[in-house]
Amino acid sequence: MYKQRVVLNRFLANVSVAQRNLSYAEKTNFASRHIGPRKTDVVAMLDTLNYKSINELTESAVPKSIQLNRELRLDEPLSEHHLIEKLRKIAKKNEIWRSYIGMGYHNCHVPHPILRNIFENPGWTTQYTPYQPEIAQGRLESLLNYQTLVSDLTGLEVANASLLDEGTAAAEAMCLCTRQNKRKKIYLSDKVHPQTLSVVQTRAVSLDIEVEIGDINDAKLTSRDLSGILVQYPDTNGDVKDFEEIAKVAKKNGTLVVVATDLLALTILRPPGEFGADMAVGTSQRLGVPLGYGGPHAGFFACKQSLVRLTPGRMIGVTRDIDGNDAYRLALQTREQHIRRDKATSNICTAQALLANMSAMYSIYHGPQGLKNIALDVHGKTNSVKNALVAGGHEVINNLFFDTLQVNPSLPLDEIKSRAAEKKINFRYNTDGTIGISFDETVKSEDIKDILWVFKCELNENKSGDNFDSPIDSTKFLRTSSYLTHPVFNSHQSETRIVRYMKKLENKDISLVHSMIPLGSCTMKLNSTTEMIPCSFRHFTDMHPFVPVEQAQGYQEMFKDLERDLCEITGYDNISFQPNSGAQGEYAGLRAIRQYHESLNQHHRTICLIPISAHGTNPASAQMAGMKVEPIKILQDGNIDMAHLREKAEEHSANLSCLMITYPSTMGVFEDTIAEICTLIHKHGGQVYLDGANMNAQVGLCRPGDYGSDVSHLNLHKTFCIPHGGGGPGVGPIGVKSHLAPFLPGHPVISPLENDSQSFGVVSAAPYGSSAILPISWSYIKMMGARGLKRATQVAILNANYMSRRLDGHYKTLFKDPKSNLVAHEFILDVREFKKTANIEAVDIAKRLMDYGFHAPTMSWPVTGTLMIEPTESEDKDELDRFCEALISIRQEIQDIEDGKISKTENPLKMSPHTQAQVVSDGWDRPYSREQAAFPNFHVKADSKVWPTVGRIDDAYGDKHLVCTCPPILPEFD
Ligand SMILES: *Cc1c(COP(=O)(O)O)cnc(C)c1O
Repeated sequence: MYKQRVVLNRFLANVSVAQRNLSYAEKTNFASRHIGPRKTDVVAMLDTLNYKSINELTESAVPKSIQLNRELRLDEPLSEHHLIEKLRKIAKKNEIWRSYIGMGYHNCHVPHPILRNIFENPGWTTQYTPYQPEIAQGRLESLLNYQTLVSDLTGLEVANASLLDEGTAAAEAMCLCTRQNKRKKIYLSDKVHPQTLSVVQTRAVSLDIEVEIGDINDAKLTSRDLSGILVQYPDTNGDVKDFEEIAKVAKKNGTLVVVATDLLALTILRPPGEFGADMAVGTSQRLGVPLGYGGPHAGFFACKQSLVRLTPGRMIGVTRDIDGNDAYRLALQTREQHIRRDKATSNICTAQALLANMSAMYSIYHGPQGLKNIALDVHGKTNSVKNALVAGGHEVINNLFFDTLQVNPSLPLDEIKSRAAEKKINFRYNTDGTIGISFDETVKSEDIKDILWVFKCELNENKSGDNFDSPIDSTKFLRTSSYLTHPVFNSHQSETRIVRYMKKLENKDISLVHSMIPLGSCTMKLNSTTEMIPCSFRHFTDMHPFVPVEQAQGYQEMFKDLERDLCEITGYDNISFQPNSGAQGEYAGLRAIRQYHESLNQHHRTICLIPISAHGTNPASAQMAGMKVEPIKILQDGNIDMAHLREKAEEHSANLSCLMITYPSTMGVFEDTIAEICTLIHKHGGQVYLDGANMNAQVGLCRPGDYGSDVSHLNLHKTFCIPHGGGGPGVGPIGVKSHLAPFLPGHPVISPLENDSQSFGVVSAAPYGSSAILPISWSYIKMMGARGLKRATQVAILNANYMSRRLDGHYKTLFKDPKSNLVAHEFILDVREFKKTANIEAVDIAKRLMDYGFHAPTMSWPVTGTLMIEPTESEDKDELDRFCEALISIRQEIQDIEDGKISKTENPLKMSPHTQAQVVSDGWDRPYSREQAAFPNFHVKADSKVWPTVGRIDDAYGDKHLVCTCPPILPEFD
């Protein structure tokens, strides 16, 4: 009794008077859970680096001239439980009406096993893009399933592993047309969703592509100057139209045909590939992904085999491993921005992997017959309502349709609107007075009654039900070809099977639930459970992006709040949330710059200076924005070559649009010339685009808006805790100084701007991009508060410097600041010399790390043949030590090769990673032990060992023998 009282007194003595009235839960400090190292760890690490305090360390790391010498003005931090309570209140300000608006967004039932085991499971949400295939076979297989789904349903040979949304997928397709046939004019059907048209038009402007919009039957296909045409099937009003003749004429004249379509409809409708389409695009949202007020969802893209080398985005392919086993990996990477830069097929880096995986699993869960039954159900309901409306005296304009009706009501529009409001129902109200009604799998008979009540009609009970005659039945539009015949789509329909399948795939992949993923520039930090929980709140998930804003007050409040916080953190004045990846943000920011210059009558300013060390998305985005890229050299020490920059800025002074620069630099150093650089660019009339991917080194310490930058994107999926999802989703909002604000992205349906007369256009299909994951970043900031955020940045810098120091003597850190001898939040290990001394390359070290249970650092970027490590603040000292010890042990293995103790070709590095099958094989004949292969140091233990499921992958083989869908039963290799 006595003892307990003493403890309690001490507990109370530690808190301030104000805090005493708070419960323990309220006082619990989230920052101490987000940040890995304990106080004693921090002391020890600072000791290693010879610093007395963390402030002293970061004051040396960050140049004096740009330091923010005050605390950020943010709300006091909330505890985790408090946060959920508060966010629930905000979410409830969203009024969830039943929405039959359609336009590419449909409600759906997310199967609960998928919701819980994928969407809410960090084993599926926390990986990066599968750059290291041997420990990513699970999601690679799942993405291959997705490609098979898209390819089968569209009737086209190949599909990619997702794009950002339907609008951008259409834009990518139309740009592909112009690349393929080098013509500069496209024709868009006016029956395509308005947001798709806007995204395509916006893209076309900066690439000088001429756009015509109108009735597709008026397209002058025989004039041979059209690059491509875009049609929608079923179209935005729900009509199923015949494009076969049009496609024939187009083909004869060298014009490509792009069809925007709906995967669910294609289970019963003849697919585009069978009536002459060259490409098909759309969204797979309605296949098991919540509406989420516009995103995130996976956009899909499929095309003919002949166009495969021009496809945008990531694509998964089948190849083989060292033992000849089937294996998956990213195919045809030489098309991509990270290799081809401004010559790339697109700027896509982060896409929508997680959502593509959800849709793939939805299709596996239901199987081909299940999907067809859902489609028939949706179609049947549509048909019944059509009959009832017609019987009730309304005109239904559609002749053939799948799930959408266009109604010309016999009642006054105002009356319909007010009756609909009474039932809390949203329809699509067209400007011509017609009404759009779209059905989906969630529509119940009660809902149908309510819809008909609005129109003052009733269901003809005799005609409803399963046995109706569809108007499609007797037409050429009826699908006759089979789809999803592969076993994977036909053997997981019981819950036991699907849960085991998802777990089997999950178990093949290393994610943040296993170990640190030190991918430089990717900021693989904690994605906390509390931040993730709101993503499943019904008031966030079940909202159509085009509902009247009055119904979305919860979202609007959160956007405003997050905008204010991000402005305070970055020093900018406004934020646009529309871009749904960092690369998309780059494109949007550059377009805003162009628009700003054009508003000053400086149309000629199109030169974009980019250091050669920049991320591949930078030059790729500049190209998309219609700019000409001028590379800027960097010096031996990794810093920008100031003399070359001055020279180039001078040379292009009259035509300078901007400089794109990453800070701290991609080399992991805080250059102290940054403010000077910004001044120089401004002097020549240019703008500064600061790539914000490295904000994790700056939050609370310095602000781009203060030291001269005009616009940045923030990768919310890096610095602000949105998980990477195995290659997306992401959010790439852009922050701008006020002079650029009028030019930010608008939207044709719901504009995020008060006045979008000066907007450069539209970058995403949804007005606020991937709204449904913004609560993650909002929550992070609200729980960390100003001090927590600053501390996180400081610990990120501490962790990187500690690792760099621990590896000293074993490996060389390529770049450090010459004065402070410090790195920023990441650093590059130079391993190039081992090629000469031991025949060992960065890739061998990357693969060998898998045997130690780790994902490799970023490989060969920004410097070929090196490894870039970014530990983030979330990893504690034990984990950093474990990683360092793995690298040190690998260094010893390299030493053994250098010393001639083991062969240069047969050694644990060259033959890594080691699979369980290899190690237990009776045929083991390697010149090193099985134990060394699989349990190379004492940290790797049998009870926690993560086995790579395939051996070293043969990349070249896969690109030569391209297979991008589920191999037909037994693949034939050689
Ligand atoms: C990640 C990254 C990008 C691209 O961001 P995405 O969200 O993947 O499109 C751009 N620049 C840098 C420096 C990055 O690290």
